[in-house]
Amino acid sequence: MSGKLIVITAPSGAGKTTIAKRMLEAYPVLEFSVSATTRQPRSGEVHGKDYYFFTEEQFRKKIETNSFVEWEEVYPGVFYGTLKHDLKTIWDSGKEVLLDVDVRGAMQLEKQYGEDALTIFIKPPSIEVLINRLRSRATESPEKIEERISKASNELQFESYFDEVVINEILPDAVRQVENLIDDFLFT
Ligand code: 5GP
Repeated sequence: MSGKLIVITAPSGAGKTTIAKRMLEAYPVLEFSVSATTRQPRSGEVHGKDYYFFTEEQFRKKIETNSFVEWEEVYPGVFYGTLKHDLKTIWDSGKEVLLDVDVRGAMQLEKQYGEDALTIFIKPPSIEVLINRLRSRATESPEKIEERISKASNELQFESYFDEVVINEILPDAVRQVENLIDDFLFT
């Protein structure tokens, strides 16, 4: 069985994870697709809820067995991917899928699912705001933050690949805009 997908994407620091969480609270019909990653869990993160935390060997096995809908090396040496099995389980339970993935992964999903996917690109009001948001993140080392800034600057070029673009300047406004898009996509 297959159903619909809502894909929230953005450069790191644009606020997509916060928006994705709000959508899960607002729409009981949506279920978060848990991705696989080879990065270390952050404090409080739970295997099977936030991510499936795989070793690189486990991740490569899943690539070999064609178990991913899409996967990317999001940061050098760090892999992330959406598992086919996870999407199927959600659709089989009668729900629709919500995904929070990087920009290249979202482009792959847009290509594969076309009309069945609503892809939303969350954009920061400016590159300066994005850089400030990333620098104020206490969870990452300065080196990792600089890596994220350079990747995010590059990803800002790809907004035209997506169905919709929402600027996250004032969070409640961005949340309302995304809700309107989801209402149109799921219910009209
Ligand atoms: P974080 O490590 O901060 O949780 O996520 C880093 C980046 O990886 C974010 O942009 C997040 O959206 C992205 N990401 C998470 N899961 C997936 C996935 O399954 N596929 C792809 N392509 N990116 C993902």
